[in-house]
Amino acid sequence: MSTLDYLYAALIGFGILVAIGVVFGVVLAVCEKVFYVKEDTRIDDVQKMLPNANCGACGYPGCRGMAEALVKGEATKVSQCKVGKPDTTYKPIIEYMKEHPDEDGTTHIPTM
Ligand code: SF4
Repeated sequence: MSTLDYLYAALIGFGILVAIGVVFGVVLAVCEKVFYVKEDTRIDDVQKMLPNANCGACGYPGCRGMAEALVKGEATKVSQCKVGKPDTTYKPIIEYMKEHPDEDGTTHIPTM
């Protein structure tokens, strides 16, 4: 084999790798659109207001679970979070939930 043959072989290999990369990139882009799961942004916001000790004392697997429960209305008392404080944790979450109803307009406002 001549040097030129090695160069062609290398270019063909490179071309195959680029083609595979493009195909997988397109597949990933399509999958992202098809399987997109819209998540309620309020869960992130409420989680940031919780102490994030992830102790589980509230009965949920962590602060993320508690935030999901508060937003969905499954947790009705913010004081289920044993680590939180009334002024710095509970009241801000209650105020936030008052100001941010569900998309259909219903609100799940927890109590102290
Ligand atoms: S009790 Fe409070 S700090 Fe502990 S996991 Fe539950 S929400 Fe997080």
